[in-house]
Amino acid sequence: MMITRTRFAPSPTGLLHVGGARTALFSYLLAKAEGGKFVLRIEDTDLERSSEASVKEILDGMTWLGLDWDEGPIFQTDRFPRYKEVIQQLLAADKAYQCCCSKDRLEKLREQQMAAGIKPRYDGKCRDNKTSDTAESVIRFRNPHTGSVAWDDLVRGPISIANAELDDLVIARPDGSPTYNFTVVVDDIDMQISDVIRGDDHINNTPRQINIYHALGAQPPAFGHVPMILGEDGARLSKRHGAVGVTQYRDDGYLPEALLNYLVRLGWSHGDEEIFSLDEMIKLFKISDVNKKPSGFNTEKLNWLNQHWIRTLPVEQVAEALAYQFKLLGIDQSSGPALIDIVPVQADRVKTLKEMAEQSRILFEDFTEFDANAAKKNLRPVSREPLTKIRAALESVNDWTAEVLHQTIIDTAESMDLKMGKIAQPLRVAVCGSGVSPSIDKTLWLVGKERCLRRIDMALEYISKREAAGGG
Ligand code: GLU
Repeated sequence: MMITRTRFAPSPTGLLHVGGARTALFSYLLAKAEGGKFVLRIEDTDLERSSEASVKEILDGMTWLGLDWDEGPIFQTDRFPRYKEVIQQLLAADKAYQCCCSKDRLEKLREQQMAAGIKPRYDGKCRDNKTSDTAESVIRFRNPHTGSVAWDDLVRGPISIANAELDDLVIARPDGSPTYNFTVVVDDIDMQISDVIRGDDHINNTPRQINIYHALGAQPPAFGHVPMILGEDGARLSKRHGAVGVTQYRDDGYLPEALLNYLVRLGWSHGDEEIFSLDEMIKLFKISDVNKKPSGFNTEKLNWLNQHWIRTLPVEQVAEALAYQFKLLGIDQSSGPALIDIVPVQADRVKTLKEMAEQSRILFEDFTEFDANAAKKNLRPVSREPLTKIRAALESVNDWTAEVLHQTIIDTAESMDLKMGKIAQPLRVAVCGSGVSPSIDKTLWLVGKERCLRRIDMALEYISKREAAGGG
């Protein structure tokens, strides 16, 4: 039995978008589900549009997602001699021919065909003529005239296209450089690809490519064309929807586990399950379960999954992703609590690690001002005594744990015959600068003793100033 070999073959002309990443994921899963190999090939023959920055984006995105490739990256630009060799082979077998029709002629032909309401296509003028080489001459593939091309698409089912619909495709440009439909076939043959999974924008290329396989005496792989992703408004997902590269999701505080989980559910399902780790996907994935219909992007669901994985993954792993956010925000990690202590306290309160990092800034850096509303409400002269008492109590705590701190607040409140909130809320505003934080005992614990005492002093000073200014 043939071993399963799949590939992801992006053109490095921009970012690795969610659509591309999902194609890569499906292709990866198909290989892994069958114990096969996954190849990464960079289709960089378009020298003008390809860039190194885009190659880096693609490799970084794939690495971050954990879609590890077994072979590659293979660059098509390293394979020009091979493409030349195969073009010569096709010319020698008369399966390709030189065409010297000028751009002008082709343009006129096109206009005439359009005017006559016919689909524009090459009319085969040079097909049977021996033509001489000109600066404009190209190599065309001799496409069969009769019969049809059929394949059983892994996603779409049986598809058949009449050869009469296809024309003689250019396989080498005037400068000798090979074109996409040709290189992709040579590569997929040489790399022994058994299953081609790609976006359905390539569906029209497939019959042309199948004919080239036949001309080269090779068995075509199986093809699966994955439907597109729509934006939340139902139109094809594009920049207009704020579609961004995969590495932007990393920088926005998403976990790779969440994005993968989200992507796999865009067009694939297994019963009504929503949560899948990469290992589970590998166990359960079947390309035949991929939906034929386009799927819609839904940020809320992505957020929900991100929150799930923030809560569920080992704390150390989430802490690593949090450290990355701290770096992006310029927060010095060494000046506060351990990140593994922050994660469990904040996990339920945020949707992204970026939010977690932002909300944790006060654990590492002092703030200069209290939130005006929170201070107005909570840092009033009546809070002076509770704050002074709790400061003294906290100062004498040696064992700075959430449990001890919790008890300290209860004891102080009791000693003053106050409800706990009457102490906790001013204390929260004093220590955090705002009225929102995790539970007060855990917050105090994470902020640390020295910082807590300093901030309570700052709050007391604020109250005094306010009083002096006549506020009550
Ligand atoms: N390089 C093509 C693209 O980025 C993909 C080709 C393929 O998968 O066959 O659209």
